[in-house]
Amino acid sequence: MLDYTPKEITERKAIVINPAKTCQPVGAMYAALGVHNCLPHSHGSQGCCAFHRMFLTRHFKDPAMASSSSFTEGASVFGGGSNLKTAVKNIFDLYHPEMIAVHTTCLSETIGDDLNALIIDMDIPDGKYVVHCNTPSYKGSHVTGFTNMVSGFIKYLAKKGTEPNGKVCIMPGFVNPGDMREYKKLANALKVPITMLPDTSGVMDSPMTGKYEMYPKGGTLIDDIKELGGCIKTVALGVQTSEPSAEVLRKQCGVEYVSMPLPMGVEATDNFIMELQKISKEEVPYEIEEERGQLIDIMIDIHPYTYGKKVAIFGDPDTVLGIASFALELGMIPKYMVTGTPGAAFETAGKALLEKFGVEDCTVKAEGDLFLLHQWIKNEKVDLIIGGTHGKTIARAEDIPLVRMGFPIIDRYIHSYMPLTGYRGAMRMAELIASALMDYQDSHCEEKDVEVVM
Ligand code: SF4
Repeated sequence: MLDYTPKEITERKAIVINPAKTCQPVGAMYAALGVHNCLPHSHGSQGCCAFHRMFLTRHFKDPAMASSSSFTEGASVFGGGSNLKTAVKNIFDLYHPEMIAVHTTCLSETIGDDLNALIIDMDIPDGKYVVHCNTPSYKGSHVTGFTNMVSGFIKYLAKKGTEPNGKVCIMPGFVNPGDMREYKKLANALKVPITMLPDTSGVMDSPMTGKYEMYPKGGTLIDDIKELGGCIKTVALGVQTSEPSAEVLRKQCGVEYVSMPLPMGVEATDNFIMELQKISKEEVPYEIEEERGQLIDIMIDIHPYTYGKKVAIFGDPDTVLGIASFALELGMIPKYMVTGTPGAAFETAGKALLEKFGVEDCTVKAEGDLFLLHQWIKNEKVDLIIGGTHGKTIARAEDIPLVRMGFPIIDRYIHSYMPLTGYRGAMRMAELIASALMDYQDSHCEEKDVEVVM
């Protein structure tokens, strides 16, 4: 497998091989699923919509509901305005959402459909909403699409001059429902009332009840989005993913924001908790201190196995930076950090992280791909790969353990229920990393060196 990946690296400009990203609408659809009673709508062909739904369903192992403007030849030539109009009427009549969140696709963007004008011109039933964002997939990635949809909700719904509500707006970044539950747990422990936008917990990790619900219990309430202008401040988690939306809310409603890396690992979680603590003025409760202490204990225990180990990390920019930060705290060397999402901020933040820990001779690249990562690994091997499922062929070809973290993970189960964020999430990362390294040692050492107690 991957036998023909050459060791010699040639500069490529016009082709991506085995991308470390997927297309914008996937992220927009995921963000829209995180709003209660909202149906994501793909303004393009059925094929795009089916692909995006399939991608999310395979990662979350829960159905991702969405509708499509079902472009055929006519719409492709004359524009999709009438398809969208019919779709919106049918969706409200048949599926009864409170809101339809439209995102575009490559095709409708290339035609140049003006979604703003189309929506203004529509007959939208009282008490219902249609919002949109532009997600041309020849730019950015699923992370960009996620950001654009969150910004779209704010642009359409958040009102200036809303009564102060004493809440904090949390923008969670492109993370799993398990992480969103972790944020809510920490905010709750510090007695900070929040509105999180979006919130896919209770939607993409909903329980099996035996009864199908098109709109599960979870998701941010539309009324809460309308009142975001009354929040004390926004805590934007994941600088690249959440800061642009926090800036939209600031411009529109004057809500100031603080933007910080995803709370992954010790320091980043400390910073998130201290930010919440500044707002609540409450003592950090013992259960949080206890979790932190347990994490430090675990890190000391596994240190002999992690210290000095080289790791290649790929995936979404904020997630890669978060994992790299924790890997450094574990004494590991993030030899390669790569994301498919464009943006110089990733490289700047990655290099700053390496400098802070005094680690040299590592490579950080935005808009890279897994083919390039494989070539780097062929030139200088690593002890561990961390990323989504698409790293498994490299892991197999080079006999390197793969720890699955990030998006998408389509060949394993349960991951989306579990956090990587907060101290609990760091404990889970520590377990996954240490177990992978120790399993590798068990299966590759000489028979005389096999240890029962490790
Ligand atoms: S055509 Fe564009 S929007 Fe549709 S699946 Fe492909 S990349 Fe995504």
